[in-house]
Amino acid sequence: MNIKTVCPPEAAEPMTFAAAELSGYLGRMLAGEGGELSISLGIKADKEKGLPDWFSVELGPEGGSIVGNNARSVLLGAYDCLRRLGCRFLAPVKGYEAVPAITRQALSLSYEHRASFYHRGVCIEGADSRENVLDFIDWLPKVGYNSFFLQFKSPYIFYARWYEHRGNPLREPEPFTRLDALAWMEEAEGELKRRGLLLHKVGHGWTGEVLGQEAQSWDAAPEPLAEDRRPLAAQVDGQRGLWKGVPANTNLCFHNGEAADAFAALVADYAKENPNVDYLHVWLADEYNNVCECEGCRQTTPSDQYVELLNEIDRRLTAEGLGTKLVFLLYQELLWPPVQARLTNPERFVLMFAPISRTFERSYQVGGDPPHIPPYTRNRIILPTSLDENLAFLRGWQGQFAGDGFVYDYPLGRAHYGDFGYVKIARVISGDVKRLRELGLNGYVSCQELRAGLPNFFPNYVLGRTLMDEKADVNRLLEEYFSAAYGEDWPLAADYLFQLSGLSSTDYVNGKGERRDGETARRMEDARELCLDFAAVLDRHRGPEGWATPFWELLDYHRDYVLKLSRALCRLAQGEAERAGESWAAFRDLICERERELQPWLDVYRVLEVTEKYTGFRPGQL
Ligand SMILES: [Zn+2]
Repeated sequence: MNIKTVCPPEAAEPMTFAAAELSGYLGRMLAGEGGELSISLGIKADKEKGLPDWFSVELGPEGGSIVGNNARSVLLGAYDCLRRLGCRFLAPVKGYEAVPAITRQALSLSYEHRASFYHRGVCIEGADSRENVLDFIDWLPKVGYNSFFLQFKSPYIFYARWYEHRGNPLREPEPFTRLDALAWMEEAEGELKRRGLLLHKVGHGWTGEVLGQEAQSWDAAPEPLAEDRRPLAAQVDGQRGLWKGVPANTNLCFHNGEAADAFAALVADYAKENPNVDYLHVWLADEYNNVCECEGCRQTTPSDQYVELLNEIDRRLTAEGLGTKLVFLLYQELLWPPVQARLTNPERFVLMFAPISRTFERSYQVGGDPPHIPPYTRNRIILPTSLDENLAFLRGWQGQFAGDGFVYDYPLGRAHYGDFGYVKIARVISGDVKRLRELGLNGYVSCQELRAGLPNFFPNYVLGRTLMDEKADVNRLLEEYFSAAYGEDWPLAADYLFQLSGLSSTDYVNGKGERRDGETARRMEDARELCLDFAAVLDRHRGPEGWATPFWELLDYHRDYVLKLSRALCRLAQGEAERAGESWAAFRDLICERERELQPWLDVYRVLEVTEKYTGFRPGQL
């Protein structure tokens, strides 16, 4: 069939890209049909500013139209229309999609949709190849996302972890430079803009830069702190210097006007030089209980100093005529709302709430009276673990700031390794998104490994689809995803993964609770039994021609992975630290050996880091 897509003259790139995507997919789906199909693409802007993505789709056997409130929305509408026609975008991995053959008569759609939330994004973490990043960007709009966050000024560290094969002793570092990282960042940003996706940048690192240290990672500084910068560093326990040697984790002395001035100048210069950045994140150090204890700083609170700094940056951007949005972070010390200072130009700012210490065993709770915020005690804070306490801090800030805001959360950065089945974490994600409106938040950016795909990308799929439509039912999404990934026997895969999820503990793997824990030990034994029994089901899906679908093959690998990891966890929970370390090493050997063939599905660097640093395996005892 001849597919004709018509864009208005001088259409923006995301629209021409949408046209090409539609022609490509519909061409494959309608390959058996003759004649011509004509689809026009257009924009109908909202009367009001700042509304979420909206699109309308009209499609019949002869063609029709897709209209959006901006060019990106047209692309989102195109992918949504393809989904309704049966396409399934299952993973940020080339080729892992289902594209059905259909007839012309199946083209019958007439609907419009407004995304439930404005901010729908993912933030880069873990260890990533150039292809991982590009494939993820390609996948984002296919499942409803509209934003991507490249951390730091350059995402060098995430590439470096991959190309240096950190954590995998079986692989030699590959040639890779900072210039490569910059070139790939530009390429990735080009791919984002091609799709009209919103670009978030930076975050941590500013404090180190004020101290004259390049801070594009959490690595230790290669150079000692220059003596002329030392007065700008926070004074902790009577000392001013780099916090444990790491610039990105070092706070500043904001009582020293020079520190605030240098900070504001850095942000303003960066915003001026990088007009392609839509949301510029202005965060302080990535550690807590290390803020300045000097007499001057003690007269106020870190949050008051932060708000004054943000106001100064806003004044400079306004003077330069820059419209860049600034994202400020509620996190660690900054969870405590300021006492006196207030943001003078709320339109400039977006609140980002990061409940990093929360549990992932259940979704946000809303309702009832939130507990009181405990008094702030300098460098003696305890991070809130209960969801109630976390939300009390958010309410405190919202009492002072009524502007735009979103949650920055971590189910797919760390917590997911504790859920072997991935269906529990997917349900928690769904529940969280459905409560965002009650929390007064306008979206979600997921701080996560890009390779969070073992056994599948269902949790990431649920997040994107539910942010696009908060009414999306998680059970229907499960059927939609699993039937495409596993074929007609999908209920067998789902039942197995549900049982594995039921035996898993995200809290235990993330270091919450006692390490010696009989209940966890028993559950891990049960998980092993379940995996052993599942071999028979797997065998039935492995024919002489290969696996029934590629996702069954992944389940086979995942079974080996769970067998090894559950044994290590069982021993740790039994209090046998040494044998637990041996079992963990066997787990490490398995995933390091198989990393080359299964690279896009599991972030080996990150799962090893999490299980060592948080779960508490001690391979050093071997
Ligand atoms: Zn100070």
